[in-house]
Formats: sequence, structure tokens, C-alpha cells
Amino acid sequence: YRQGEASEVTVPTPAGDVTFSEHHPLVIVAGPCSVENEEMIVETAKRVKAAGAKFLRGGAFKPRTSPYAFQGHGESALGLLAAARDATGLGIITELMDAEDLEKLGEVADIIQIGARNMQNFSLLKKVGAQDKPVLLKRGMSATIEEWLMAAEYILAGGNQNVILCERGVRGFDRQYTRNTLDLSVLPVLRSLTHLPIMIDPSHGIGVAEYVPPMAMAAIAAGADSLMIEVHPNPAKALSDGPQSLTPERFDHLMQELSVIGKAV
Ligand code: PEP
Ligand code: MN
Repeated sequence: YRQGEASEVTVPTPAGDVTFSEHHPLVIVAGPCSVENEEMIVETAKRVKAAGAKFLRGGAFKPRTSPYAFQGHGESALGLLAAARDATGLGIITELMDAEDLEKLGEVADIIQIGARNMQNFSLLKKVGAQDKPVLLKRGMSATIEEWLMAAEYILAGGNQNVILCERGVRGFDRQYTRNTLDLSVLPVLRSLTHLPIMIDPSHGIGVAEYVPPMAMAAIAAGADSLMIEVHPNPAKALSDGPQSLTPERFDHLMQELSVIGKAV
């Protein structure tokens, strides 16, 4: 079981250092599921920054269930993330699917995301453990807490101590009204088991935009260090995860609601 103090994961961004930890303000990460074009990513970045987000999260390489679904714009989307970073000073988070892309992704990402589907891709975990960029490790959709912590251990054992855990919902038995079951019970449990900072992703966790804000509030009440919220300028037209994406207006409103109940945002 956990021994010692909470880890602080401090990430340099163009606008200054941002620290993920139990003892620091809540860190808000927001952005679209996929980077679709320059205008939408820069606009979204400006809107979420104005609302108080510290990181822009957008996918260039997307792990889609179907090979026929939009796969992300890949390398060209990395350039668009760099443009959004330059325009706003936000830190960038984007998913690494293939170790081959590590170098070019690392040129723009301030934090490297390992997605749910790759949580136990041990060779990929070893690769990100052997480099310096902080890693956001999402929980596999059917992973036990022990499996998730052992996946984190692969990164830590490689020498990279900057790991943030992200709960994004697990497979439940009822997908009629929700996409996944957001497991907020991990917050107190991980607190006792690990020193690593904890992010909650209610967007993938519940999968329906109108249900995201109450789960974001609940995550804060249960002790989250950070939240990841999907935001899209026009969710109805999104190339991926539109149904769970908040409009910038709704996100702005949520940020005001959060500042009332939580740790300072
Ligand atoms: C994502 O963050 O857009 C994503 C694909 O998430 P997950 O790996 O949790 O499904
Ligand atoms: Mn998504």
C-alpha cells in the first residue's frame, strides 16, 4: 500500500508550469476528440483557454473500433496542435498509438496519452517509460485497478516518474443509456494505493453530453486532481465522439459551476 507523499507531476507549458497533484488546484484538460482542421482546433483552444483550461487535448492518431471510421489526420494534425499551442499557450496532450510516432509526437505533446485500448501494450509502455515526457495513462475499459497500477509500474520502472492516471469508464452491463460506467470509486481507492495524480474523464465515462457536467462535479467531490472534458465547436458535425462533446458555451458554464464547488480551478 501507499507510502509517502503524493507525487507532483509538473509539466512545463508555454504559459508556465502546471502541476498535477492532490495539493494543487484542479487542472482542467479540454478539447475535441479528434483534431479535424486548423480553424476548429484553434477556435476550440481559444475558447477552452478563456474558460480556464490549462491543456488542449485532441487526437491526431485515433484508436477507432472500426477500421472504416475516421482514423484521425495523423502527422498533419500534430502540426495543427502546434498551431493551437502557439496561438494560446496551452499545453498539448495527444495520444500515442504506435511507438514509431513517438519522436514526432513528442515534438508537440507536453503530455503523451496512452489510450484505454493500449493500457496493456507493454512494449509501448516500456517506450514511454524510457523517455522524459509525462504520460497520461487511461484505464483499460475492463482493467482491474491492479492491472492498471501494474501498467503504470511499467512506465515508472523504465525511469519515467511523471505518470498521471485517468479513469474513463469501464464496461458495464447496460449500454442503453450510457456508453460506459464511470468508476468514481477509484478515487478513494487509488488514493490509498498510489501516490500518482488522478484525472477523471467523464466524457468517455458516460458518453452523453448532457450527463457530463454532473459527473464532473461528482469527480471533484470525490477528490479528482484533474478533469478531461471533450469540447467541440459543433458537436453534431464532429468526426468522432460528437454525442459526448460539450459546446464551448456549455463548457464555459460548467467551468463556472466547478469553481463554486471544487478546489480552486
Ligand atoms: C480519447 O481520449 O479520445 C479516447 C479514445 O479515449 P479512450 O482511450 O479512453 O477510449
Ligand atoms: Mn474521444
